Amino acid sequence: MLPPFNYFRPVTLNEALSFLANEASRPAFILAGGTDLILKMRSGRLPQDSFIVDISFLEELRYLRTAKGNLEIGPLLSHGQISTSREILDFAPLLARACSEVGTPQVRARGTIGGNIVHASPAADSIPPLLLHDARVTLISLRSERTVPLISFLKDAYKSDLHEGELLWKITLSPLQGFSFGYQRLIPRQAVGIARLIVCVALKTKGQIEEARIAIGSATPVAFRARKAEAFLKGKEASPDNLDFAASLASEEMIEISGERWSTPYKRPVLQALAKRALLEALSGSRGNGEGEN
Ligand SMILES: Cc1cc2nc3c(=O)[nH]c(=O)nc-3n(C[C@H](O)[C@H](O)[C@H](O)COP(=O)(O)OP(=O)(O)OC[C@H]3O[C@@H](n4cnc5c(N)ncnc54)[C@H](O)[C@@H]3O)c2cc1C
Repeated sequence: MLPPFNYFRPVTLNEALSFLANEASRPAFILAGGTDLILKMRSGRLPQDSFIVDISFLEELRYLRTAKGNLEIGPLLSHGQISTSREILDFAPLLARACSEVGTPQVRARGTIGGNIVHASPAADSIPPLLLHDARVTLISLRSERTVPLISFLKDAYKSDLHEGELLWKITLSPLQGFSFGYQRLIPRQAVGIARLIVCVALKTKGQIEEARIAIGSATPVAFRARKAEAFLKGKEASPDNLDFAASLASEEMIEISGERWSTPYKRPVLQALAKRALLEALSGSRGNGEGEN
């Protein structure tokens, strides 16, 4: 059963922001799809006088548009909407693919991309593909607006840099034109599995590798771009030796962040193997979203 709580349902975005600004003396928690927050409420982890601010009806936060060649995503789009959107399948195929892997159909129908980002789980499926697109997040409050790279908004496991009175308002993706993609997601079993490791790859090749982007999720407290592996691949032949070496660099970067742990003897070779597979998939010219592939 849910413990008692105070509830406010704003009708406009401005009303939500005014409420968050004026109720600053009491802890307020934003409810989008509720698939993370309601678990927290149920386990009694919210302070007693908290306010739940239900933004789930604010159509102003449910949008998709292009601006100056970038794609802008409203935080209330659900995983289900993202995974089936024609525009997202074309612009950010790995984001569509990743959102199609989240939980169950019920969770994908309720759970939003904004909630996935702000909750900042190390295993959040939407984050690695967003890092490939150098995503930025825009936070607004009644009196301010700021845009920061997603990677700096994610401070630690389950800790995002949302200031008091702020809402996540926009997620902006740069295009990846001319890239092909690879995607690997390791789960403990075939159904409803939280990812153990996620590897997203985008490659631009013209004979040699012109540019490589590699994002790793679920391996460290915060997902990361494997910059050493990316730098190594730039200008290289896509030979098996080079791919192997890049994959081993990505795996070592994980260990540099997380340190040697009890799981390292398992994760080191597994991440290396997944990174190699994702690189090979991208080299095969894949769009990475499962469309037209078998
Ligand atoms: C059975 C089950 C399976 C799951 N499987 C997966 C999975 O495979 N992969 C995965 O990544 N996740 C999974 N999840 C977690 C969850 O569904 C996702 O993280 C989801 O995207 C959260 O979105 P939401 O809208 O439900 O967030 P909510 O629960 O409403 O909110 C989550 C947090 O974000 C804050 N928040 C939400 N929107 C905003 C906003 N616009 N501005 C500021 N703060 C905001 C809330 O205050 C809260 O702190 C699973 C959950 C369940 C229950």
